[in-house]
Amino acid sequence: MDEDCIFCRIIRKEIPAGIIHEDEDTLAFLDIHPVAPIHFLLIPKLHIGALSEIDSNHQQLMGKMMCLIPGLAAAQGCNDGFRTIINTGRVGGQEVAHLHIHIISGNDRLPAMI
Ligand code: 5GP
Ligand code: ZN
Repeated sequence: MDEDCIFCRIIRKEIPAGIIHEDEDTLAFLDIHPVAPIHFLLIPKLHIGALSEIDSNHQQLMGKMMCLIPGLAAAQGCNDGFRTIINTGRVGGQEVAHLHIHIISGNDRLPAMI
């Protein structure tokens, strides 16, 4: 836990968020500034600053998060696919320094990024 981290504060329920899933290791909640009709974030409860800090000790946690995504996406109405994004560090455009996976979708095809 990081005292000042905004996502740690959401985990501690100090800041309200549209929580859509919670278990002992993870939390998923709606993004406050959605870029598409469906946009939520999946985070570990463990404060990990970024994907660049992941090592083999996090294998089980990262696997669990990946395995949660299809069910969460379906429950949010992703009928025809979705996009997952992990921004990492300054160059990667990361703004909140607590590892998070964006899950983004809607009715229309998202613009190509690559
Ligand atoms: P990043 O650029 O770090 O990958 O994305 C951070 C995301 O967190 C952004 O999409 C932003 O809208 C979202 N976000 C930032 N602060 C809050 C907050 O207090 N509550 C919620 N629900 N989302 C937040
Ligand atoms: Zn944190």
